Amino acid sequence: MKYIFITLVMLICTTTYSQDIYLQCGKLIDTKSGKVLTEKTVVVSGNKIIKIQDGYVTGKKDDTTIDLKNKTIIPGLIDMHVHLEGETNPKAYLQKYTDSEADVAFNSVKYAKTTLMAGFTTVRDLGGTGVNISLKKAIARGRIAGPRVFTAGKALATTGGHADPTNGSKRSLIGDPGPKEGVVNSIEDAKKAVRQRYKNGADLIKITATGGVLSVAKSSSNPQFTVEEIKAICETAKDYGFHVAAHAHGDEGMQRAILGGVKTIEHGTLMSEKTMDLMKQHNAYLVPTITAGKEVTEKAAIEGYYPAIIVPKALEIGPKIQNTFKKAYDRGVGIAFGTDAGVFKHGQNGKEFGYMVEAGMPAMAVLQSATITNAKILNMEDQLGQIAVGYLADIVAVNEDPTKKISTMENIVFVMKNGKVYKQ
Ligand SMILES: [Zn+2]
Repeated sequence: MKYIFITLVMLICTTTYSQDIYLQCGKLIDTKSGKVLTEKTVVVSGNKIIKIQDGYVTGKKDDTTIDLKNKTIIPGLIDMHVHLEGETNPKAYLQKYTDSEADVAFNSVKYAKTTLMAGFTTVRDLGGTGVNISLKKAIARGRIAGPRVFTAGKALATTGGHADPTNGSKRSLIGDPGPKEGVVNSIEDAKKAVRQRYKNGADLIKITATGGVLSVAKSSSNPQFTVEEIKAICETAKDYGFHVAAHAHGDEGMQRAILGGVKTIEHGTLMSEKTMDLMKQHNAYLVPTITAGKEVTEKAAIEGYYPAIIVPKALEIGPKIQNTFKKAYDRGVGIAFGTDAGVFKHGQNGKEFGYMVEAGMPAMAVLQSATITNAKILNMEDQLGQIAVGYLADIVAVNEDPTKKISTMENIVFVMKNGKVYKQ
């Protein structure tokens, strides 16, 4: 009798424990086959997808059934280029001197949530002060709502380069930043800077291979590392399981970055056909960031929005990004969806889909870029980027079929991350 009772209790416990979620979906974007499937039920248990059934199936009494019959579901979106620590505003350059790390941290909590609610369940944070590492941990621990973050921590630059943190400061504040602060000027510095990022808890390395638009420095596109320095960074990164992302607008710096072994080229604005071919040879991906290009062009027209030194750079680089993306895509360069959110307001990442389609990339290919391609670059292709059995339950929904109307990607109506519903 005693044993029967124990068995009964155990049975009740296990049944009530397994509350599954049944998502009845009108359409499902199958990123693997590139097809739009219809009338499916996706069953989620814990943080995983355990079953995909034909038709609309309702769960048992304790299960939750969610009606998405007039929606299209898509694997959780992945943005390969965001900056969760900050967001564009006319006082951004002053805030560098007035905001403490705690201010940055509190702001980043808001940006992370906004990003998740826009359907981006995973992001690659390509550089901040290092608060982004704590942010990643807080999200992973369930303290705050946000996307799964893979972060570079603080980006690497050379002295005066695009990510030198003291650019534009008065002399007494400039100091002499080194590898710890992300400034390298030799092969030894390069190795040390990567190892320091590992110690700090970064997941990957970001370098600024050329000048950039928003730094307080003259050139938007000059090469800023030697090939040897980049090689040392990439080889050291490999020892720690990191890949390397390279910010680059200028062609020479881009070539050095690819030859040095980076995995992704961010922006790629002035990329020549020769460099596009080099990207293909080395299996490097272009992260387009068209939305950022449009944003800096627009904001540069507002008097005083950016420091004066930035305006001509923004007007030179911004308008070219979409066209370079088109050329690179047409030539067969691998495309990894990424926006540079932070340069524009967080949560508007979905605009990038429309800009990519406008430039000639088919909608399904764009969706695949934001899911399976990015999952592969993050070494997460067995867990992210597909709605498939055994994958993590990162699922978002939109009102319309994005292969027919891409602007629907700007209005995400349902968000599930790791099996938990955040927006419905
Ligand atoms: Zn960026």
